[in-house]
Amino acid sequence: MGKIIKLDEYLSNKIAAGEVVERPASIVKELAENSIDANSTTIHIEVEEGGLQKIRIVDNGDGIDEEDCLVAFHRHATSKISTDKDLFRIRTLGFRGEALPSIASVSYLTLKTCTGNQVGTAVVIEGGKIVEHGPSPSRKGTDITVTNLFYNTPARLKYLKTIHTELGNITDYVYRLALAYPSISFRLDHNGKKVFSSNGNGDLRQVIASIYGMNIAKQMLYFENSSLDFKISGYVCKPEVTRASRQYMSTFINYRYIKNFPLSKAIQDGYHTLLPIGRYPVVVLQVEMDPTLIDVNVHPSKLEVRLSKEDELNKLVTETIKLTFKQVQLIPEVKRPP
Ligand code: ADP
Ligand code: MG
Repeated sequence: MGKIIKLDEYLSNKIAAGEVVERPASIVKELAENSIDANSTTIHIEVEEGGLQKIRIVDNGDGIDEEDCLVAFHRHATSKISTDKDLFRIRTLGFRGEALPSIASVSYLTLKTCTGNQVGTAVVIEGGKIVEHGPSPSRKGTDITVTNLFYNTPARLKYLKTIHTELGNITDYVYRLALAYPSISFRLDHNGKKVFSSNGNGDLRQVIASIYGMNIAKQMLYFENSSLDFKISGYVCKPEVTRASRQYMSTFINYRYIKNFPLSKAIQDGYHTLLPIGRYPVVVLQVEMDPTLIDVNVHPSKLEVRLSKEDELNKLVTETIKLTFKQVQLIPEVKRPP
């Protein structure tokens, strides 16, 4: 008899969780992204003890049909793609169908959801096993609560940092979402106290003010530009309000927060000599492009992406920032002799 066996779904979900659910902030990320994909306009995130005690996300999005509620917890079950062609034209934040089964396999999870057309459904899952499933009167949207995180993966639990650090990671991610989606109202509460909220009125400068303060928001310059393949827009700070960390640079491609070194470099090149050594700008950059030119299926967290025509994009970003400063005469025009 052969030695190789196929792992059951319960165990393979737990393995996938190792990649997708690193810490409380990853759960906030995955659940909030699901809320955004479901067309929510308000997303309320409540966490207790840095998310270690409890994470709850309530949205007013499309909800999940009763018959889909259990399917959603199967690995690679998604409503977002269906053919291999779809994989190369991703328009949603999620598509891998891994978050819900992974999270549910390492916690106690309660889902209450309603599409507005039916009575609503509740599902309770403990360590990947369904313990309750039935109708639940609820308003339109989805309400997911996660407790006992990593109770069955002690090594992962041990690896977590202090409550303060975990909350810092969560807050940082919620900030990025609010910057990418000024038309969605976000609220983050920790131990019953408000940490952050955005009002969802679509004004990006106001979101910047609520995160970085009014003084910085006032010193930000709006830019927009486009080339054949890219449309870019956002805000750059004037050189006098630079910071000592790269943290203040938020880059988004098709509304997904990404980290991309050449793109950050292109931003800094836009400042040219205006940026003192060791200082970094406060920037919000939104890039819109044809999804066929970007591969987001590089890493489970999708924080890194691969871009075609990267040079064209970086040039556009550098030139646009330079132009923005020229227009407010931070870079004086060189006077040529007549
Ligand atoms: P993915 O987001 O990659 O599709 P997930 O495991 O995160 O995979 O979610 C599985 C499916 O459950 C989604 O495709 C979606 O149909 C549904 N779903 C999850 N969260 C929500 C939500 N907040 N509102 C509506 N539908 C949701
Ligand atoms: Mg998802």
